[in-house]
Amino acid sequence: MHKVKPIFQNYNWGSQSVLQKLFGLEKNGLPIAEVWFGTHKKADNISEFFGAELPYLFKILAVEKCLSLQVHPNKKTAKEGFDKENVSGLPLDAQNRVFRDPNAKPEMTVALTPFLAAVGVKSDKSKQKFAEILQNKDSISKKYLEDITQKVAKKIEDAKSNELNNLLSEQAFLYARQDYPDDPTALLLLEMNVVRLLPGEAIFLPDGVIHAYIRGQCLEIMENSDNVFRAGLTKKYIDPELILKYGIFQPLISYEPSVIAKNKFSTDYISPNFGITIVEGNAKGAKFGKMHKGPKILVCLKGEFVVDGEKISQGDCFFFHDGENIESFGPGACDEGKFVIAHL
Ligand SMILES: [Zn+2]
Repeated sequence: MHKVKPIFQNYNWGSQSVLQKLFGLEKNGLPIAEVWFGTHKKADNISEFFGAELPYLFKILAVEKCLSLQVHPNKKTAKEGFDKENVSGLPLDAQNRVFRDPNAKPEMTVALTPFLAAVGVKSDKSKQKFAEILQNKDSISKKYLEDITQKVAKKIEDAKSNELNNLLSEQAFLYARQDYPDDPTALLLLEMNVVRLLPGEAIFLPDGVIHAYIRGQCLEIMENSDNVFRAGLTKKYIDPELILKYGIFQPLISYEPSVIAKNKFSTDYISPNFGITIVEGNAKGAKFGKMHKGPKILVCLKGEFVVDGEKISQGDCFFFHDGENIESFGPGACDEGKFVIAHL
């Protein structure tokens, strides 16, 4: 096992304290939104141990403001778009560059705290509503936005507590209004399916699913890609045409990962391309029955463990080669802890 240095991203929607505390960093006034593990060009902490491209990118997120409303391309679109932008000479870091690599980006998210996320649309009519809002967004008046905001706020205020779970889109909309007061694309959230995951619950988002993360902390694993089409809720480059062209506008039935398997001390979340395992509790002398194949990344989120004879504590991160299996683990100095493993 090799000790890995986490790479922090200071996006403005991050937190001033959550990831700083988890990794024992001094606060320096900058928010930390994401911690990355992988071989992506933008943040690479694994190449020194792994001589090829790691097939996944693993992140921990602390979401305190809405992330941009977005769609990820499929493999074919990503490859064609990347080649075309290369031929046109657009630099990889250009502000209006859409394709930063030739990869698709399905992603799986596991909630660490209650986690509010908009995933997919509500109805077959949503495409028309998306088009109306995106194509006319510059002529949507402040007054119109303000009127709708007040109506939605009143609806939530008047709702009984057992009705609030049916008003998640409305709650997401109000958060977006608060985070981006001048952005009419907040209205799109009212057309979206919004979920509140409990800690340990997960969603899998195939290419083309429109999504936005609103509030909470999560683990996220995806293909090694940073290809994003944005519809709004961001100061970055947005591309409504690509959203309408590549977004999936039929409501999907399920966003669950293909398998969630609970064992005595661990839970496995498996999607078609990658997986996450969470180990929790006082796992004295526990052994993994069968460890997943391929390169793995382990991050200790809480407490202290002994993994294959080595002591690991909160904030420690390790890379394991294929064949370098994590066979046994048990508690260290404290009775309780939590670590996560990203794998194929
Ligand atoms: Zn995404």
